[in-house]
Parts: sequence; structure tokens; C-alpha cells
Amino acid sequence: MNDKCLFRPLLEVSNLRKEFPVSRGFLSRSEGMVRAVDGVDLQIFSGETLGLVGESGCGKTTLGKLILRLVKPSAGVISFEGQNVSELSGGQLKEYRRQVQMIFQDPYASLNPRRKAGDIIMEPLTIHSLRQSKEAEDFVFRLIDLVGITKEQLTRYPHEFSGGQRQRIGIARALVLRPRLVVTDEPVSSLDVSIQAQILNLLKSLQEQFSLTYLFISHDLSVVRYMASRVAVMYLGKIVELAANDELFGRPLHPYTSILLQSVPQIKPGRKKKTLLLGDMPSLSDSPQGCPFHPRCPKAMKICSEQQPDILEQSDGHLVACHLY
Ligand code: SF4
Repeated sequence: MNDKCLFRPLLEVSNLRKEFPVSRGFLSRSEGMVRAVDGVDLQIFSGETLGLVGESGCGKTTLGKLILRLVKPSAGVISFEGQNVSELSGGQLKEYRRQVQMIFQDPYASLNPRRKAGDIIMEPLTIHSLRQSKEAEDFVFRLIDLVGITKEQLTRYPHEFSGGQRQRIGIARALVLRPRLVVTDEPVSSLDVSIQAQILNLLKSLQEQFSLTYLFISHDLSVVRYMASRVAVMYLGKIVELAANDELFGRPLHPYTSILLQSVPQIKPGRKKKTLLLGDMPSLSDSPQGCPFHPRCPKAMKICSEQQPDILEQSDGHLVACHLY
């Protein structure tokens, strides 16, 4: 990524919140709210890949869906090039959705099994009334060539492709409208390890070709380390640490980040002893008082159960929410 890209956020979220009502029992009585996204501030700069990591259920997919306007925020602002996305409707919302696309985790589930690959890739053009132009047709052929699908394969159905090929179709579909920002939600986690590197390299190459910006959501730190220029760590709906890739992996500050990094499997012998996370992550509907990580934190102090730490900048671009700092 060019450093110049870091001066202008393409997308910015401020104090973003999303609550879902929880209902239980035969009568589906409301029993409070789940805070899936709890006051997130984030900037995504043109041309970068921002990695978003955290355990399953921490709210990272909901954050992606909020950015895509697939769900509406309970509070807060999402702005895309200075325009408040929450207020968009009709044609403006349609144009926003042209510029911000998604690549899904499970390429099979996200492709219509009754449609041929060519129709799946062309569908966004039809929705946006762009299918008829010669330019669009030329672009589709260039795109399928870049993602590694042949013209002959366009007449096949999703079940006739391997998992990696289906993800290539999903990538082509996401890029056919020439978006500016692409939210990728665990794009390789359902693929064989041997195929994962191919898809990651394809995403990198397409980013260069089309000046794409990625929000790269994953629970896999090694994948995020390979892909991201900056990394945000999410825990129970909050960003707890954010830094440039080298800084975060070389000098993690938040105890949660440190433990996550130690949990990455190491092949080399003689590595230092791992600190493992204590128990499971609490439910989003039962977030603890104070620092949300305190019941599992090996460095917890008295204040940690009483007061929620603010996220503060510790060094250039390195933010952390922890009372240790
Ligand atoms: Fe641990 Fe306290 Fe820091 Fe939370 S604020 S991460 S409990 S030391």
C-alpha cells in the first residue's frame, strides 16, 4: 500500500452500535438486548487492507454487514467519502451498494445452484442496468480471465466447480461492478489449505489491478498477517487494539491480542510457553462490567472489573483499550 493512501479515509465509522433483541421461551418473551457492535470507531483508507480479527461471535461479521448496509445501525454514523451512509435510500443506496461489495465465506451457499456461472457473475450488472454495454461485456471477459475462469466454464452450474473455483466465481461477481471497497468475510476459511494461498494471492493481485480497498474479516491471524496493512482486534463488540501489521504482530499491547498471537500454531520447537485463553468468550448478551476481557485476562487488576477502558493512541497509529496503558 502506498503511504499516501493513509491520509484519506474512504470509509469511517463513528460510535457505531448494533443491538439485537433476545427472546427466549415458548412465548418468545424479550429478555434484553445483545450488543453485537458496541461503540466502534474505525477508518478504512483508500487502497489499504484493514484486517478485522477476533473469535467467532465477537461481532466482526455484524460490523461488516453494517458497513454494507445489510443491517441498519442502532446508533452511530457510517460515512463513505464523507457521505452519511445511514441516511441513503433509493438510487443513492443502490449506488453505494455498487461501490461496496462483499465476498462471502461459503462460496457454495452464496451462489444460486440453479444459475449458470456466467449468469451469476452478470447478475449485479443486470440489477444495476449495466449489462447491455459493450464495455461491461469486455470487462466481464477480462475479469473472468483474471480470476481464472474460462469462457467455456461460464455455462456450468456451481456444483460442477471445486470450492476454490466457486470462490473465484464469487470474487468475479463481487468485482463486476468495479467497487471501491470490498468486505471479505472469512473468504478462505471453508477452503482446503492448498487452495487458500491461491485465493489470497488472487485477492492481492486484484487489489493492485483495480485499486481496491479491503476490509478483511477473519478469525485466522496468520491469514490476516499475510493480507492486511493494518489490523483491528475485536472482542465482545468492541475494537480493543488497532495498529499497523508489523507493529501489531511485533509489539502487541492488549493482553487479548498477545494471547491470540501465542495461540497461533508454531511448527518450530523451543518457542516460549503459551498462555491460553481462560474459558469461552462470554455471550454478547452477557457482556461483563468494566473491561469486557477482565474475566479471562491474566493481567486483570481491581479497576478492570469496575471501569471500561477507553481506546487510546499509545504510539503513532497504535491504539489500545486497556488500563495497563
Ligand atoms: Fe486485562 Fe485490565 Fe487490560 Fe482489560 S483493562 S485487558 S482486564 S489488564
